[in-house]
Amino acid sequence: MDAEQLREQAHKMVDFIADYYKTIENLPVLSQVEPGYLGKLLPDSAPNHPEPLQEILSDVQEKILPGVTHWQSPNYFAYFPSNSSIAGFLGEMLSAGLNILGFSWITSPAATELEMIVLDWVAKAFQLPHHFYSTGQGGGVIQGTASEAVLVVLLAARDKILRRVGKSALSKLVMYASDQTHSSLLKASQIGGLNPELCRSLRTDPSTNYALSPDALCEAISNDIASGLIPFFLCATVGTTSSTAVDPLPALGKIAKSNGIWFHVDAAYAGSACVCPEYRHHFNGVEEADSFNMNAHKWFLTNFDCSLLWVQDRSALIQSLSTNPEFLKNKASQGNLVIDYKDWQIPLGRRFRSLKLWMVLRLYGLEGLRNHIRSHIDLAAHFEELVRQDPRFEVITPRAFSLVCFRLLPRPNSEDDGNQLNRDLLDSVNSTGNIFITHTVLSGKHILRFVVGSPLTEERHVNGAWQILQDKASALLGNS
Ligand code: PLP
Repeated sequence: MDAEQLREQAHKMVDFIADYYKTIENLPVLSQVEPGYLGKLLPDSAPNHPEPLQEILSDVQEKILPGVTHWQSPNYFAYFPSNSSIAGFLGEMLSAGLNILGFSWITSPAATELEMIVLDWVAKAFQLPHHFYSTGQGGGVIQGTASEAVLVVLLAARDKILRRVGKSALSKLVMYASDQTHSSLLKASQIGGLNPELCRSLRTDPSTNYALSPDALCEAISNDIASGLIPFFLCATVGTTSSTAVDPLPALGKIAKSNGIWFHVDAAYAGSACVCPEYRHHFNGVEEADSFNMNAHKWFLTNFDCSLLWVQDRSALIQSLSTNPEFLKNKASQGNLVIDYKDWQIPLGRRFRSLKLWMVLRLYGLEGLRNHIRSHIDLAAHFEELVRQDPRFEVITPRAFSLVCFRLLPRPNSEDDGNQLNRDLLDSVNSTGNIFITHTVLSGKHILRFVVGSPLTEERHVNGAWQILQDKASALLGNS
């Protein structure tokens, strides 16, 4: 590594990225390329000799960017957001610059200790109970994604119960969640070797705004116990993926506790909102959780990837995931003086991800993060109001955070139940390249989802998006 070469080339790269952000608003937010487009533009083998950076950057501009969907565009309203910020970007840059692998404390003490400190800071900001702090039996850890977070806690929960009832009971373990729970849980259960027939996906409906019903859970647990099965894991969600439903944590936690079930809370998207006192009540009941997860990389201004997981009892994780080969042994680990995060995750190697979260917390402060969340929620409320004012549309579920679920109503006496109409509307607005929104299905209805989440989004972008939706709706309904 030649430091002067790094300085020169990295400056060029920063200029390139800064220019990208300057013009991002004018780029088609949803990439409009066809599958296989890139193979036609790039050579079929790697160059034998070094090429100049300038040439590569031209290729990025001309060949790569057209195939990029611009998640940071102010006109991006799809899925859930994945925020970037200057603070997050600088932290990523520093992490890449140091390029350490902090799997054991000794491999970079600062990486482990900063992670413990910032996770304690965030736990405090969310008013999480003390048993989630690193100073107690539990603690926090940064995973890559919420999918990895739920996998590691599911493995910990599985092994914990199997230590009690015997390994042969694996095929009798039952897991509970709602039919709105993210698919990452099912994937975790497959990896964990659970019996797929015993992954209970409890039905939700509009009467509870698609939240998991404690009564349905109690009934399912009783039936399973009566059949000789072993309930062991419950996943509740604060802010489900389709409609941001909030499962009733206090009631669910009580049921889990009285049945000796591991209680995991997935707040991947909506968790960020709970840094604001007015949204913190959504976490009420988290005291009973064995594990709790939120993605700082979704809505907390921290560049991907940065998924925060807290556990009440870290020994359960460590018993499932620890390995101790000779070549990793060292005095600090052997003396049980330190945390070795390799034992809290699937891979061995791990990046210095706490740097970017630390940067975000320091460069914004908690008040800055609260302003960020509140501004998005205000914009979503504004969009919701616009939808309500147009009688051709309906809002489907009450808006809890920055997601609005809505749809275009079919014409009276039309044969279409509205599903094809809304599919057409979605295709039509996304094909403009001017905005990007996505869909879901709730109670058999094809629903459009509009999420405010890009740090660059302003009211004019929301108004512009609504104008496109209205124009395309008029064209589809034939009254343009
Ligand atoms: N849980 C919820 C509620 C989500 O909405 C998502 C993704 O949007 C996930 C989990 C999975 O997130 P990840 O991509 O971090 O695995």
